[in-house]
Amino acid sequence: MNRFVGIGDLVADVYYDKSLRLIGADGGVTVFNLLCNLQSMGFNTFAFGVCGDDFLGKLSIKSLDDCGVKNDIYIDKNIKTKAYQIRRRIVDDRYAYKSIKYCPYCKESCWYEGSYIKEKDILAKIKKDDILIFDNLNEKNQYIIDNTTNKKLLDLGLFDEFEGLNKNDIIKKLQGNFEIINLNERVEKFFLAKLNLKDDIELFKTIKAQLIIITRGKRGNDFILDGKKYSFPIKQVVNEVDDSGAGDAFFSTIIKNWTNNSFIITEDNLEPWFNDTLPFVRKVLRRVGSRTLIKKMYKVKKKDICPCWQAKSLVILCNLQV
Ligand SMILES: [Zn+2]
Repeated sequence: MNRFVGIGDLVADVYYDKSLRLIGADGGVTVFNLLCNLQSMGFNTFAFGVCGDDFLGKLSIKSLDDCGVKNDIYIDKNIKTKAYQIRRRIVDDRYAYKSIKYCPYCKESCWYEGSYIKEKDILAKIKKDDILIFDNLNEKNQYIIDNTTNKKLLDLGLFDEFEGLNKNDIIKKLQGNFEIINLNERVEKFFLAKLNLKDDIELFKTIKAQLIIITRGKRGNDFILDGKKYSFPIKQVVNEVDDSGAGDAFFSTIIKNWTNNSFIITEDNLEPWFNDTLPFVRKVLRRVGSRTLIKKMYKVKKKDICPCWQAKSLVILCNLQV
C-alpha cells in the first residue's frame, strides 16, 4: 500500500471560549489533519516536520501518535511551535471563531514565517511510491517538490506566499506538479487575477493538474476535470459548531476515493465522490476541533500555553504525558 506522506511545520490549535477560558488544545494544520483523517480511513501515513522544544510541540507530536500517524518530527530548540489561538464567540446566535497568532493574554507571538523543516534529510527518507501532501509551497517544500517524481497533492488555503512572485514564477511552482489541487475561493480569485485568467477552465489549462477542486464553503464545490467544470452545490446546510477541519474532511474523502479507484478520475466519479464527503464533513462541523472525531482534544492549563501564566496555576495534564 502506498504511504501518504505529509510535510510541514507543526501548528497547534488552542481553543478558548468567549471569556478566554481554555477549552483545550490539539495538533492542527491542514497537511497533518489530512494524514490523521487518512490514517483513520485505514491508509498508511507518515508525517515529516519540525516543532519547537516546548509543550505545544510535544502535544502536536502526541496528537499524531494518538491518531496513529507515524512521524519523524525534528525538534528545533531555536523556534517556538506555531499555534493558532482560536477564540470562540457567539455572534447572531451562531458560533464564530477568531484565530490569532499571538498569546491572547500577553500578546507575545508564537508564530514565525517561512519553514524550519530539514528538507534534505526528509528528501533522503522519501520512498519512490510515497504520495506526498503539501498545504503550502514555501521554498523548502518547493525544494522537495522539485527533486521528487512522486505523486503529489496540494491543499491551498492561503495565497500570501505568492503575493511577491510574478506570473511565471507562480506557474512554475504549480504547473504539472500535482495530481489533485484543492483551493478555496480566495486563492482561486487571487490566481485568476494574478495570472490574468478569465475563468477556472483557463486556470486548469495553465496549472495542468489531473483534477482541480474549488471549495466554496456552504455553496459547495466545483471540480475541473479534463478542461470541464462540474458544480456540486450543498443541498442540506447543517447548524455548524466549528468549521475548522471541514475542508480537511472533504479533501481526505476525495483522496480516499481517488486512491481506491487506482488514481483514475472520470466524470462519472465526481458526483459519488462529492456525495461521499458530505456525511464526514457534517460530523466535523458539529464538533469543535479538526480531529475530535478521531480522538478527544487535550485539556491544558494556561501556563502550558504561554510562560506569562507560569506563576498563576498548577499544571494538571489530562491524558498528556510529557
Ligand atoms: Zn502569554
